[in-house]
Amino acid sequence: NASLATVDADVAAAVAQELHRQQSTLEMIASENFAPSSVMEAQGSVLTNKYAEGYPGKRYYGGCEHVDVIEQLAIDRVKALFGAEFANVQPHSGAQANAAAMFALLNPGDTILGLSLAHGGHLTHGMKINFSGKLYKVVPYHVRESDLRVDMAEVEALALEHKPKLIVAGWSAYSRQLDFAEFRRIADLVGAYLMVDMAHFAGLVAAGLHPNPVPYADVVTTTTHKTLGGPRGGVILAKEEYAKKINSAVFPGQQGGPLEHVVAAKAVAFKLAAAPEFKERQERVLQGAKLLADRLLKDDVAAAGISVVNGGTEVHLVLVDLRHSELDGQQGEDALHKIGITVNRNAVPFDPRPPMVSSGLRIGTPALAARGFGAAEFTEVADIIATALIASAGTGTLPGDTAVELRARVTALAEKFPLYPHLS
Ligand code: PLP
Repeated sequence: NASLATVDADVAAAVAQELHRQQSTLEMIASENFAPSSVMEAQGSVLTNKYAEGYPGKRYYGGCEHVDVIEQLAIDRVKALFGAEFANVQPHSGAQANAAAMFALLNPGDTILGLSLAHGGHLTHGMKINFSGKLYKVVPYHVRESDLRVDMAEVEALALEHKPKLIVAGWSAYSRQLDFAEFRRIADLVGAYLMVDMAHFAGLVAAGLHPNPVPYADVVTTTTHKTLGGPRGGVILAKEEYAKKINSAVFPGQQGGPLEHVVAAKAVAFKLAAAPEFKERQERVLQGAKLLADRLLKDDVAAAGISVVNGGTEVHLVLVDLRHSELDGQQGEDALHKIGITVNRNAVPFDPRPPMVSSGLRIGTPALAARGFGAAEFTEVADIIATALIASAGTGTLPGDTAVELRARVTALAEKFPLYPHLS
């Protein structure tokens, strides 16, 4: 039982460097967060050793009495958190949750309606070489060119024309709330199932700061590591009538043994998400995103051809629109990376640049809110980002002197809110 550093100095060194990277930079990838130590403790526990194919009380392996307690806690807590009738907490990831949910409701060759990847949808909502695009006939819906909001009139027209068996509502890069009641109405109109993939905004829903899709959807899927702030993993929530189908679609349909160490970490995360502190943190997530959008809508930014998709945000992220700027997504990502701010470039709807370059940046606030950032710090980071993008817009690169000055401001913010101090 020698330590990691003794057994494998190479892996230990890379882990230490990653810890240092997380501590010394500002993480603004919208799908990332910082799991609390309690969550990581559960995930790094002896539960990693246990096989537990099946479900609590109905396992195919002996010795499951303790993991049964843990998995049942996770199920009960997530049902209570979102007001769901049924939950399966075993999907290894968000993609596997979506695969299992579709497997439960559809047959290969059935038609699904999902938001186009180029307009903010996820790979699992029907991308060509994803399982969803290969197994099902995909009809993509889009955002309107005029205001870049999901075009519900198009959703209705496509639903009437193609009679899908499933409509998927949800997104990976979109900054407005969806109208779940309208999706439900359209699904009912054509007899389709409605699945909401709330992976990105589940934490906001748990905090009561975003409409809850559970009452409207047949099935709701989510990841547990984005705004929810738990371990990497997936969950499926559903109406009770789909319970059997979904359980058998997850196991044995898609997966073998569940990762009970991750299920335990999910249980901890669901407990934390029900606490008042979690709501307060999600309020800061939203406040930070608004402050960032407001700063990026100011005249000095507009003068560089840079703006904000949708003219603002109602969620935890801002999509920077570089379609009318000399600066492209790759250059913007690189400029921010140079000063210690991590974001990802992202295609924006009607993007004239290829996806590997793109004309957008997706910038999220959940990880910094987890670190403790409030209005003052988000105002400062918003100004740092605006300054970096403006200074890079002319040549495509951030001048060295500005980079040094902005890196110092980033370092000051990072040092003000130490991350995992007990680990270093
Ligand atoms: N669904 C949505 C909306 C997502 O944004 C993502 C991840 O980016 C997923 C599903 C997939 O989650 P995972 O990466 O855990 O498979």
